[in-house]
Amino acid sequence: MDRRIQRIAFLSEHASPLALRGGADAGGQNVYVSEVSSQLASFGYQVDIFTRRDAAAIPEIVDWAPGVRVISVIAGPLDTLPKDLLWPYMPAFRDNILHIIDREQSSYDLIHSNFWMSGWVAIELKQRLGIPVVHIFHAMGKTKQRNQGDMDSSPGERIAVETQIIQSVDRLLAQCPSEEQELIEDYGADPQKVIVIPSAVNTEIFHPVERAEARSVVGLDPSAFVVAYVGRLLPRKDIRNVVRGVAQLIATCEARQAGSAARIKLLIVGGETVEPDPVVTPEIGVLQKLAAELGISEHLHFIGKRQQDVLCYYYGAGDVVVTTPWYEPFGLTPLEGMACGRPVIGSAVGGITYTVVDNKTGFLIPPKNPAALAQRLQQLLQAPELCLSMGQTARQRVEQSFSWSTTALHTAIVYADLLISSLSESEQQSELRSPRVAVAVSDPEY
Ligand code: UDP
Repeated sequence: MDRRIQRIAFLSEHASPLALRGGADAGGQNVYVSEVSSQLASFGYQVDIFTRRDAAAIPEIVDWAPGVRVISVIAGPLDTLPKDLLWPYMPAFRDNILHIIDREQSSYDLIHSNFWMSGWVAIELKQRLGIPVVHIFHAMGKTKQRNQGDMDSSPGERIAVETQIIQSVDRLLAQCPSEEQELIEDYGADPQKVIVIPSAVNTEIFHPVERAEARSVVGLDPSAFVVAYVGRLLPRKDIRNVVRGVAQLIATCEARQAGSAARIKLLIVGGETVEPDPVVTPEIGVLQKLAAELGISEHLHFIGKRQQDVLCYYYGAGDVVVTTPWYEPFGLTPLEGMACGRPVIGSAVGGITYTVVDNKTGFLIPPKNPAALAQRLQQLLQAPELCLSMGQTARQRVEQSFSWSTTALHTAIVYADLLISSLSESEQQSELRSPRVAVAVSDPEY
């Protein structure tokens, strides 16, 4: 095998590193693509991220980070579209990627595709280019269908295409054991093909901030008991459940005349715009109406969308971070809250059961159960020292087990394994004598 730099084509039709996170379709996948590609580049790979061009002003090729380019490919309108409307444009996405590869005379060693639509493009490109494909779904259609029922706006082809991808790609990455189980049990994936590589959190961006400092940045009273939600404002994230849980906590405190009810606040960060706007982000309107019905409007504090580099102040303003989705493929926001040294109360679903350790770094509760949430909030309200100690344990857990460099290292091992198995025996021997990826796995969890 020659010693040239290895080139990876990342495909991510709707989640570009160039997008501002926090909006409906700009979530964990954008973070994953940004962090993993830049870490891989730091190991010496060259990564090109192919994404759909959603504005005329975006240049076709952007040098986004050392060793990482973002290539915005025309496929449908030069405008932002909900991801569930992008499927018809995937043949154009495929053809225009091939056109760019041809024009630039680029060659790639491997494709790393993200989400089901790019997975389809990847298996088409695999046939044309004859290179291996590593795929990560980020979310599975069957789970979405099961949980969202009639609200699921995915194209009808999704599950059949996912099944085709699972059969055709060389390796499937799962972000946590529950996703591995979905791939194998719900879709019949070959267990040998599935590799669990947990997603992670950037501990330099997400770090503990003194509560008083955070409160002054966010504009909340230092003596308040603050429940923080940070993330996309989607119905499936069930922030309505958090509003109901906080309402029950307030009612309990009022009944006990504990005097603490007035100081309970719910901080909600996220949405489509920097100013919270119920027209542009309808879920804000739904939550405001619900809070009014429950008589707790003055306890809610809406912040719009914020850039990640300031989110530590918003997590840090919370005594506790709460996320109670109906389901969660992985969930980056619980890890971010933990990295900011706060206890996390999360639904016992999907990736949250893997990241949050019940009774140690926070609490796991059943989804759609405001009473269970109110009970845990009450426990933390009465025990500020428990908030502090759980928050410290949470930060330690993140530092030990969830770094993007480890995620990227394990991904590089998957690449190396695939690329090496495509070599002749003598090439394999020479590659094994001087491997280009240093394998230094020390985390016992893997
Ligand atoms: N996010 C952000 N600004 C916001 C709200 C969220 O940058 O105002 C980021 C957040 O830090 C997280 C990502 O958006 O990394 C996705 O949040 P979500 O809770 O939706 O996580 P997912 O479901 O994608 O894992």
